[in-house]
Amino acid sequence: MQTELYINGQWVAPVLGGTLPVIDPATEQVFAHVAAGSAADIDQAVHAARAAFDHGPWPRMPGSERARYLRAFAQAVRDRQDRLAALEVRDNGKPLPEADWDIADAAGCFDFYANLADELARTPEEPIELPDTRFVSKAVREPLGVVGAIIPWNFPFLMAVWKVAPALAAGCTVVLKPSELTPLSALELGAIADEVGLPPGVLNIVNGTGPQTGQPLSEHAGVDKIAFTGSVPTGSRIMAACARDIKTVSLELGGKSPFVIFDDAPLEDAVEWILFGIFWNQGQVCSATSRVLVQQGIYERVLQRLCEESRKIRIGNGMDKGVLLGPIVSRAQYDRILHAIDRARDDGATVASGGRAAPGLDKGYFLEPTVLTDVPLDSAAWTEEIFGPVVCLRPFTDEDEAIRLANDSRFGLAAAVMSTDFERAERVAAAFRAGIVWINCSQPTFTEAPWGGYRQSGIGRELGRWGFDNYLETKQITRFVGQEPWGWYIA
Ligand code: NAD
Repeated sequence: MQTELYINGQWVAPVLGGTLPVIDPATEQVFAHVAAGSAADIDQAVHAARAAFDHGPWPRMPGSERARYLRAFAQAVRDRQDRLAALEVRDNGKPLPEADWDIADAAGCFDFYANLADELARTPEEPIELPDTRFVSKAVREPLGVVGAIIPWNFPFLMAVWKVAPALAAGCTVVLKPSELTPLSALELGAIADEVGLPPGVLNIVNGTGPQTGQPLSEHAGVDKIAFTGSVPTGSRIMAACARDIKTVSLELGGKSPFVIFDDAPLEDAVEWILFGIFWNQGQVCSATSRVLVQQGIYERVLQRLCEESRKIRIGNGMDKGVLLGPIVSRAQYDRILHAIDRARDDGATVASGGRAAPGLDKGYFLEPTVLTDVPLDSAAWTEEIFGPVVCLRPFTDEDEAIRLANDSRFGLAAAVMSTDFERAERVAAAFRAGIVWINCSQPTFTEAPWGGYRQSGIGRELGRWGFDNYLETKQITRFVGQEPWGWYIA
């Protein structure tokens, strides 16, 4: 397992020689150390990426050639499926079947963007019709440049690939900064880059803390774009850093996503999707449907079934068979969630189920799946992202009230609605102010479909062809073809 920094195609020690401990959240044991970079390492990585972009073959080769590398990445990820999934469980805590999805999705993401790189090679330019026939014009799409990719800990490998795959497909070069809480799996991308013979400097990986590596990366003048996924406060700091030299920035931030359930919804299906919407990945999901609005007529029954099923969820080490709720990623995050539950109680909420450390597990950051009711609309539990296995349930009377409550948030990442009345579901979907809307389900995510939020949930879209456009510039090339001279100055 590689633990050094990956810069310019070499595994190197950090300039200042620092390391970070890697903790298994199920056991609280340090099981590895990785090299931790500083501003000096970021500078070297950016120089390598800059040289690879300005002088190297990567942005100049046809997209179809880059596609071959991306397909080799996809295959190499598949070859490592079991090892990468197990590493992800140990580093992040998630249950193994979920880690398996992440790795399989990551491989699929490389293939998807390989296809778009092929398409770019086939249609590199688009003719533009002009009203003035003395000119012909075309739009050409080109790689944007050097990308700084800064990612969180909740889907460590998949979030890295959501940025690296489209950026490489477009012809950009990348400096990737993983989360200091989950630094291991992203390093495998460096090992794969070696294996597939990626030109040096095209992909660089520098682990380290936010202030010591993320910040210098977002401030570096040699970077053309920052692609960030993480919290709103960090996103705001990054945007300010990018403003100084007008770097392009895309931000995938937090959410407090609503799930509206009408009383014609099948009850058991509703309960299943509520559970999945908030408890997969321990609720550490930006799009988690953490505010559930249930129509009055079925509210009590939904609440009762939700509490019954929550109590049955098997909690434990993500490697153990049958476990559906692993540990929270870190001690700090675990404390934060318990504090948010205590504060909700103080603010008047009722803990209908859960609300404590999981009993019988004396090591590891395990929490009970938690259901809150009577949550005041102005309390932090209702308005702020808890980023843990905590759902707030609230009754509503009619469609207008549901839409008003759903949209009453500074976030706008995702929203879901459940009803057997197709027209009503479509109406509510249209009324949601959110970038991702699910009907009769919650959370399914596809590489083909755009991902991103309204309002404070971010700027720009990842995934699909929208995620590809994130890494491309558009250039117009206009040619004068007039038969007569222009004749403005020289008659
Ligand atoms: P975070 O903002 O604390 O950290 C994210 C990354 O930013 C880490 O790599 C961190 O080291 C780095 N960072 C920290 N300070 C920095 C600085 N000053 N300059 C540059 N980089 C810095 O977020 P987190 O706790 O890792 O992740 C949880 C958050 O991510 C949640 O709010 C969640 O909603 C959000 N998230 C959003 C999406 C999405 O697609 N919208 C996906 C996953 C997570």
